[in-house]
Amino acid sequence: MYIIMLGAPGTGKGTIGKEITKKYNLTQFSTGDLFREEIKNGTELGIEADKYISEGKLVPDDITISMVESSLSKADNLLLDGFPRTIVQAERLKKILNENGKKVTVVIDLSVPDEDIIKRTASRVICSNRNCRASFNTIFMPPKQEGICDICGSKLIVRDDDKPETTKKRLEVYYKNTEPLIDYYKNEGLLEKIDINIYSPTTKEDTTNKAFSIIDSRI
Ligand SMILES: [Zn+2]
Repeated sequence: MYIIMLGAPGTGKGTIGKEITKKYNLTQFSTGDLFREEIKNGTELGIEADKYISEGKLVPDDITISMVESSLSKADNLLLDGFPRTIVQAERLKKILNENGKKVTVVIDLSVPDEDIIKRTASRVICSNRNCRASFNTIFMPPKQEGICDICGSKLIVRDDDKPETTKKRLEVYYKNTEPLIDYYKNEGLLEKIDINIYSPTTKEDTTNKAFSIIDSRI
């Protein structure tokens, strides 16, 4: 089984992905982890990839494909997160799987309205004490006393990365890169979209159950 997860940063992709891997006994295949591993080991590809990652750019297709190719052809039952990112990568994935008599099972696209992602991210606060760095959320997980860390009593701050304008930019980049991929998988008949209401208290269960029934209908 090969399940691809799509979803902008802030949609809870990681959390839902974990539930899926548990239920279907999949291995999480994350290019982020793979990149970090190669960078840590100082491989030629790792050094090359690091140049792009450290500047916040997408790692070019040829580097990404070289890294994932050998792991992909060996592994079964994967949940793919962060790969493919482009049509070229998607075509390559299809070819690698076809050569091994396999194919993508389903592509799950988690969709949250932009304004909700922006609001949720902007409501995240972290402890200003560098040795603590506890995180809270003024909407979902408020500290006992407003603006004050529960653990060490220091002031809570919003990270620059979480400010609305930064999130907006991050979302723009995400859509620009992912929109073509969504169309591609729609045409392949593999795309399943789940609309998420992050303000519902049962969000995680609802989304997880929807994902399970989608997967069950495809296997
Ligand atoms: Zn603290």
